[in-house]
Amino acid sequence: MFKIGCHLSISNGFESIAKDAVKIGANTFQFFTRNPRGGRAKKIEPSDIEAFNKIAKENNFTKILAHAPYTLNACSSNESVREFALQTMADDLQRMECIPNNYYNFHPGSHTGQGIDTGINQISDILNKILKENQTTIVLLETMSGKGSEVGSRFEELRQIIDKVELKEKLGVCLDTCHISDAGYDIINDIEGVIKEFDEIIGLNKLKVIHLNDSKNPTGSKKDRHEQIGKGFIGVEAITKIINYEPIKDLPFILETPHDDLSGYESEINMLKKLRAEID
Ligand code: FE
Ligand code: FE
Ligand code: ZN
Repeated sequence: MFKIGCHLSISNGFESIAKDAVKIGANTFQFFTRNPRGGRAKKIEPSDIEAFNKIAKENNFTKILAHAPYTLNACSSNESVREFALQTMADDLQRMECIPNNYYNFHPGSHTGQGIDTGINQISDILNKILKENQTTIVLLETMSGKGSEVGSRFEELRQIIDKVELKEKLGVCLDTCHISDAGYDIINDIEGVIKEFDEIIGLNKLKVIHLNDSKNPTGSKKDRHEQIGKGFIGVEAITKIINYEPIKDLPFILETPHDDLSGYESEINMLKKLRAEID
């Protein structure tokens, strides 16, 4: 089954976001756990979850993906910023148990001049504090573009974080195609080589979700600016290869492409379904 969806707004609740997903032909989606700037999370209503579960079941939804506010920084040189990331993520993970057995993705962080090794230590420290044996959520480290002092633009860095975390079985990776291209991985010409490298360094069993984005910039630009599928440097040919590449084709693909409204995502999803079917 082609697992395809996009980032959607949860501001009207879970039932509403599920309806949006169905409307655009998605069977998964991503949402922010709270305002991306890190505000208070809305109360979760059990009746809303119940309505969501019904729609998800009727429409064969696969696992869904929550995204932590992108302003959190688990490896800031400022201790109160790190503490805020810890508190927010711990709270998010507790709330995630209202929708058990899904994914929670976060940006590892920017070391803000402390160096990669200190960053890696601080990120793994926070994970060791918030991960619990009895949680059903898998926490995903997102591959980053390497802009500024971002940690996680090399597979080796993600591997080092995972190595330092005790509850490794609660950890996975979300691979963002725009980010890794910007980071310098040649997914345009060599998806096989990139996935092989991921497998050798991290292990393909850790790869849980693909963020499917084109990029406004060439490989190695370290910019992180997403583009609509086919309109950027990655291009429709490489994207077609990615969504059909055997070792990863059964993972959920989540679009984070720039669109003004749902219909933009709807046509992108339709296009991808055709590109997938052509090879199937
Ligand atoms: Fe992200
Ligand atoms: Fe992403
Ligand atoms: Zn991005």
